[in-house]
Order: sequence, then structure tokens, then C-alpha cells
Amino acid sequence: RAKLRGRNRSHYFSPDMADALYRKMTLRHHLSLALEAESFELYYQPIVDLKHGKLKGFEALIRWHDEVLGQISPSEFIPLAEETGQIVPLGRWIMKTACKQLAKWRKRYPELPPYIMSVNLSRAQLQSSLAPTIESILRRYCIPPAQLAIELTESAMLQEFDDAKQCLEDLASLGLELYLDDFGTGYSSLSQLQDLPISTVKLDKSFVQGEHKSSQAIVEATQAICEKLGLKVVAEGVETLEQLHYLQRNHFDYCQGYYLGRPMPAAILEERQFQLLNSVIAFE
Ligand code: C2E
Ligand code: MG
Ligand code: MG
Ligand code: MG
Repeated sequence: RAKLRGRNRSHYFSPDMADALYRKMTLRHHLSLALEAESFELYYQPIVDLKHGKLKGFEALIRWHDEVLGQISPSEFIPLAEETGQIVPLGRWIMKTACKQLAKWRKRYPELPPYIMSVNLSRAQLQSSLAPTIESILRRYCIPPAQLAIELTESAMLQEFDDAKQCLEDLASLGLELYLDDFGTGYSSLSQLQDLPISTVKLDKSFVQGEHKSSQAIVEATQAICEKLGLKVVAEGVETLEQLHYLQRNHFDYCQGYYLGRPMPAAILEERQFQLLNSVIAFE
């Protein structure tokens, strides 16, 4: 009982909690309808190679516009879909759609460099059937495995570590790259960087944007550790030229953020980014 008397004293069912529960139940219901209707869309955000001033690839980010509820953020519905298990069929749709899009681009623009499509995965998707599923999607769309990357957060990897590890090793042996997402925000364990087949670390935007007092130290230390371990680093959340120059001075490989491009529908990305194809992006 004493436990319930923390800072938040009201452990009774409050109107706020009722609202939150109602919202959750509503979303859950609409999510299952949306799954059937496939009323999601993927947006793609550029990831830029800082050293060569070129596009490296894109991260696929899901968008959901519900006719009744309006636009709903993935930060709200992905955790919900994880709770209900809906993330498994949804995740399959995401993987298939991202690969299909990449295949379309490869066909339409044969002169394109081998851009890497990176797709976020949730912990619940790390099952023994995942690698065979991805393998068959890659085969169906004739995509070289090296052009697909998987993004996973630290906490996703830590839970039931041994199972997750096996699954990640299966994925790596398909030839995919594995990115550790939101690095620095979870229960960071530097040993994961060695134990898991990770090729790239994505440093969380809160550090890049200097939200914490020790941000600079973390940014610089992360780059140094990754360089020593032979890992690439992507800086997330780059919103200003100043941040970009700072990352360049600190020898970052890649960056991603609104300054370089927001997540956008495939057609807009084609229009804006593919024209830059063979030109070097000037950061000024
Ligand atoms: P994430 O994987 O870390 O994705 C990066 C998030 O940062 C995206 O938010 C992106 O729009 C946002 N972002 C990119 N550049 C900037 C910037 O310069 N400034 C700021 N403030 N934000 C920036 P989004 O699309 O709302 O997604 C949020 C999270 O939801 C993702 O974080 C990921 O954890 C999850 N998510 C999104 N799409 C998927 C998906 O297809 N599958 C799974 N499992 N999770 C997804
Ligand atoms: Mg991500
Ligand atoms: Mg991230
Ligand atoms: Mg994130």
C-alpha cells in the first residue's frame, strides 16, 4: 500500500485514466480495421553520407491517417500494436512495402547507386520465422540483401537476449545490415556493440540536439568508441547547419534530420532527391 503513495497520490481510477483507456481502446479497434484495409503509408527520410556529400539511403517510417481519428503518430500506435501483437502483421506489411518501393526505384532508375533502405523492427518481430520471411520478400523483389538494413532499439535487443541474438544472427547471415537505433537512450550496454552483429549505431537525436548537459561529451565519445570498434555512426535529428558542421568536425559518417530532409512520400523523394543523383550535396 505504501508503494502507491508516491508523488502521484491518486491511485484511484481518475477521469484522465478513463480518457487514456478509452483512447487506447479506440485506437486498437481502428488499428485492426486499418490493418485489413491497409490504410497505412510509408514515408522515406534521406540518410546522407557526410564524408562524400551523397545520399546513402533512406529510413522507412510508417504513417497512419485514419478517416475518423485523423493523423496518428507512430510513437503512439506502434507501442500499442506491440502490446496487442498487431505489430507482427503490420511489420510484415512494412517490410514488404519498403522492399517493393526499393524494387520500383531500382527498376525505374537503373543508374541509381545501391541506396540502402532501412526498416524499423519491433522486439515482437524477432521470431525464428522472421529471417525466412525477409528472405522470401527479398527474393520476390530481387533485392540484394546488402541494400536492406534493420533498425532496432537497444531495449528491444536486451529483452530475452539469447533469442533475440539468434534471430539477429540469422538476419545478418542473410547479408542485411543491422543498425542499433536511438543509441544512448535505453539501457545502453556497450558490450552489445561487440556481442551482436551490428554494423551501425544511430546516435539518438537528443544528444545531437544537445538536450542534455553532457551531450557533447556523449556525441564525441560515441564517435570515438564506434570508430575503434569499426562501427559506422548515423547522427539522428540534425536540424541546423551548425549541428551538421559540428558532426563533420567530429568525423561522423552519416547523418539524418530535418535539415537534410523530412520523411516524405516516395513520389516527393524521387522528385527532390533523385535529381541530385550524381551531384555532391554542398553543406552551406
Ligand atoms: P525512430 O526509428 O528513431 O525514427 C526517427 C524519428 O525521428 C522519426 O519519427 C522521424 O520523423 C523523426 N525525425 C527525423 N529527423 C528529425 C529531426 O531532425 N528532428 C526531429 N525532432 N525529429 C526527427 P516518427 O516517424 O514519428 O517515428 C517515431 C518512432 O516510431 C520511430 O523512431 C520508431 O521507433 C517508430 N516507428 C516509425 N515507423 C516505424 C515502423 O515502420 N516500424 C516500427 N516498428 N517502428 C516505427
Ligand atoms: Mg529508426
Ligand atoms: Mg532513432
Ligand atoms: Mg526514436
